[in-house]
Amino acid sequence: MKCPTATICSLLALLSMAWTAKQDPSILIIGAGVAGLSTARRLMEAGYSNVKILEAEPRIGGRINSVFFGDAFVDLGARWCHGQNGNVVYQMVEGLDLLGHTEIPFKMYHSSRTVIDEEFAMGLMEAMDGVYSVDGDYPDRYISIGDFCEDRFNSTIHEKYGKDEKKLQIAKEAMYYFEMEVNSNEGSSTWFESTAQSDYLECEGDLVQHWKGKGYKTFLDVLMKKYPEPKNQLPFEDKILLSKEVSEITWNESRPRNSIAAHCSDGSTYTADHLVFTPSLGVLKERMHSMFVPKLPEKKRMAIQNMGYGLVMKVILHYPEIWWKNDCNGFNLIWSDEDRKRAINEFPTGPNLNGRSWVTYMHYSLAVENNPKVLVAWFTGKLVPEIELLSNDTLARGITYVHEKFMGHIYNVTLPDKLIHSDWQSNPHFRGTYSYQTPAAKKGKKATSAQEDLADPIRTAQGRLILQFAGEGTHPHHYSNVHGAVETGFREAERIISYYGKTTNI
Ligand SMILES: Cc1cc2nc3c(=O)[nH]c(=O)nc-3n(C[C@H](O)[C@H](O)[C@H](O)COP(=O)(O)OP(=O)(O)OC[C@H]3O[C@@H](n4cnc5c(N)ncnc54)[C@H](O)[C@@H]3O)c2cc1C
Repeated sequence: MKCPTATICSLLALLSMAWTAKQDPSILIIGAGVAGLSTARRLMEAGYSNVKILEAEPRIGGRINSVFFGDAFVDLGARWCHGQNGNVVYQMVEGLDLLGHTEIPFKMYHSSRTVIDEEFAMGLMEAMDGVYSVDGDYPDRYISIGDFCEDRFNSTIHEKYGKDEKKLQIAKEAMYYFEMEVNSNEGSSTWFESTAQSDYLECEGDLVQHWKGKGYKTFLDVLMKKYPEPKNQLPFEDKILLSKEVSEITWNESRPRNSIAAHCSDGSTYTADHLVFTPSLGVLKERMHSMFVPKLPEKKRMAIQNMGYGLVMKVILHYPEIWWKNDCNGFNLIWSDEDRKRAINEFPTGPNLNGRSWVTYMHYSLAVENNPKVLVAWFTGKLVPEIELLSNDTLARGITYVHEKFMGHIYNVTLPDKLIHSDWQSNPHFRGTYSYQTPAAKKGKKATSAQEDLADPIRTAQGRLILQFAGEGTHPHHYSNVHGAVETGFREAERIISYYGKTTNI
């Protein structure tokens, strides 16, 4: 005779299988950047175990890429945690003593080999900030940052420096620095591409917090619960498949289960009940027509087309000795009009555009915490795709030419002994750096923003949730940031969780 306890046990097992089939649907996540990892974390915490992440790169992290270089980790992608109140990254690491404050350099150098005096430099920074950070006071039409700022900056500097011809000239030339600064914040190639009336919301508190030489990757460990208590870590290792590039996503509404499929470049196919797509807006811009079968709804295609996705490049340089004598934490570079023209002859190697050499697209180099012999040079603008393809030798010589030109009279500038650089535009798994809102996307009175249209999930005719979108570009206010990407991952996980909260079968 069978023991009654065994019968009860097998009944319970049967019941639990029925629960599993109903409540543990299969979920595919495309991309193991922070949005994908956040989706998986929230799902696993809620008890969903049938989760798989397909990642095209041989590493996790996406646009977080911390590399050991010099004496510590440096970041080829995200470097700072921007803000505290309302910043989910900050909230998740608060109390763990992982963040420090970065002093942003305010020293300005002019290409005529002049160090701009502190008071004038502060005055220029304030003029830029006053014009750029203004809230709400826009003409009643869609307008770009360039259109909005150019006139205002001009009138501000005329008011401030109109009586001093020399200062006024430098202030005019600083407009070009100002545009590059806006481009590096927004990710745009010119400041006429990004809207002045954006929905971006800044988190309050310290806006530039670094990871004390350990890189932004520290946050990935916190996100996966590997840190601070390794014993609490979630089983991400079992869920992530690396070097799995998804080339096509197909779905078939008539199939009740596993109705969506991700087809990979290596010939493999994975099916699931739900798919959460997290690759960048750059990937979507390039592949939206070939990747989705059936094609995406028009509202979504328009959103992808109208949103901006930009270009920033970092070149990280290591020097045998600290030639800048550690007396500043970076250099802001103001090119004179004449020197900008001259650069093309003075440093003829490499690409140029409209009579401007690539080297003039560099507007600052910054020191790095816990890494005393390292500087990071920033490039913005339309030439970035070509600059990414330059050899290390040309990059090193070009940047040294710029440092020499601006500071050769103060320092004994040397060539770096090694360098690494980002290639976000050239890499087909990113195709750029971060998203911004364009005047085109803001045009007309729309109830939803392009980000919200992109975030809107695709359901079957019966209302079944099938294809969802996460990633920084889908956040209505914190786009372009890590904290925005995390929130979108949590959002899409919650969407699945609440879907099953309300629905008894899939
Ligand atoms: C240079 C630079 C500086 C930045 N600085 C900051 C900063 O200081 N602070 C800040 O908050 N933010 C910063 N950001 C922005 C921040 O890094 C991003 O907003 C955030 O990391 C985006 O995360 P995500 O998960 O949305 O996208 P991603 O990180 O792009 O993740 C998407 C993943 O999908 C993968 N993928 C792509 N295509 C496929 C495919 N076909 N099949 C499978 N997988 C695919 C990618 O490899 C990637 O891992 C910076 C970004 C860059 C590039």
